[in-house]
Amino acid sequence: MDIDKKVWEVLCSEEDISNRLKELGQEISDAYRDKKLYVVSLLRGSFVFTADLVRKFDIPVKIDFMTTSSYGHGTESSGSVKIVNDIKENLEDYHVLVVDDITDSGLTMKYVMDHLKTKNPVSVKCCVLLDKPERRKVEIDPDYVGFTIPDKFVVGYGLNYGDYYRNIPYVFVVTDKDR
Ligand code: 5GP
Ligand code: MG
Repeated sequence: MDIDKKVWEVLCSEEDISNRLKELGQEISDAYRDKKLYVVSLLRGSFVFTADLVRKFDIPVKIDFMTTSSYGHGTESSGSVKIVNDIKENLEDYHVLVVDDITDSGLTMKYVMDHLKTKNPVSVKCCVLLDKPERRKVEIDPDYVGFTIPDKFVVGYGLNYGDYYRNIPYVFVVTDKDR
């Protein structure tokens, strides 16, 4: 997995992301104005996106994090989702917005949303930076999407390659030089 020897193709630049987040922040602020909003961010992939997105809100918001099992070191989902670290606060008075980096098979988001619904919040919706609808294994249509992208493995802006590259400030695709 020698990523340094591969070609890095920028899919969403820092400017693309910043511009889109301003729009999303406004849209979400308008939708939840005068409502009690609780953002549930899924670690680790969404930490960068969540941090930038919530700073575009002009409404009050509570924020907490959940950890679910992930791809690990591979590029294919294991197909089973586990909650490693759950939300402890009572969500009954809140409108929950689950924030994740990407919806791929949809298994993670569906599982997390179903799980959070059992805590009886007022509503549960979701927001993802990236959506890969071609890869869906379960029916889920994210409520707020930053960018709809083709079926490619993406890295950067929170998304990992092995244990690294989450800190790269843009989203890129790796391809072999001689493709
Ligand atoms: P899903 O359950 O929808 O298949 O995807 C769950 C998780 O897999 C995402 O939250 C993300 O962490 C990881 N994932 C899915 N697609 C990609 C990708 O293209 N690149 C990286 N780095 N992670 C991905
Ligand atoms: Mg993830």
